[in-house]
Amino acid sequence: MAIAKVQELGLPTCQVYVDDFEFERAGRLRQALDKRGIEATSLVIGGPGKEVWDFYEGPLTIGLVPPNTRAARIAHIKKASDFAKQCEIPAVQTHCGFIPEDPNNPLYLETVIALREVAAYCKRNNQNFRYETGQETPITLVRAIQDVGLDNQGVNFDLANLILYGKANPVDAIELLGPYVQGIHAKDGLWPMNPKQLGEEVAIGKGKVDFPRIIARLKALEYRGALTIEREISGPQQMADVLAAKVYLDTLIG
Ligand code: MG
Repeated sequence: MAIAKVQELGLPTCQVYVDDFEFERAGRLRQALDKRGIEATSLVIGGPGKEVWDFYEGPLTIGLVPPNTRAARIAHIKKASDFAKQCEIPAVQTHCGFIPEDPNNPLYLETVIALREVAAYCKRNNQNFRYETGQETPITLVRAIQDVGLDNQGVNFDLANLILYGKANPVDAIELLGPYVQGIHAKDGLWPMNPKQLGEEVAIGKGKVDFPRIIARLKALEYRGALTIEREISGPQQMADVLAAKVYLDTLIG
């Protein structure tokens, strides 16, 4: 099972993706984490319904921004929060969508209201609610967090997404997101040179993320959270890339 694989890779922490919140499953997950000595730093969720990771259907399908799926997704996040509580996982994490850049856009206010509802629910469960970066610019994300106004919000800083979506250089973004960073996806990628297609995700070290500068900045900020390696392929190459990334990051962390 997945938790055993995390242990085999020599990783002390992981994030757990779940899409079925059965009570019995929570117990099995907790047991597996305890047995392997792995700390699950967040519960990652998405959906329900279609989410398309691109520039065109993405704004219409991802996260809490699209009105037609919003109510179902609020309900889904609340279920996830209850599941995370059962497994003693301290945070719920998701992509909130292409949060509008223009705060006068009615969709912006609607999204903030939805975010406040789910973040407040997580707060009642003594959890943090974490925004995974990607579809919005860093300043828009910080504005939304401040407008939501709750103290249990944080950011899962996906270093590559900002590049894949052409939103920011993560080295610069950290200046804005720094106070909110609670988790990190160590991932690499290329800029979207074709403006109609996301940039390509690549193995760590082969893309545009400046890991030496990012790690140095995180050290300066006294970041103490996890660095979770993310490689969005499957099979043996995924394992090989994760292992190589671990070796590389260990060297930088020192
Ligand atoms: Mg990610």
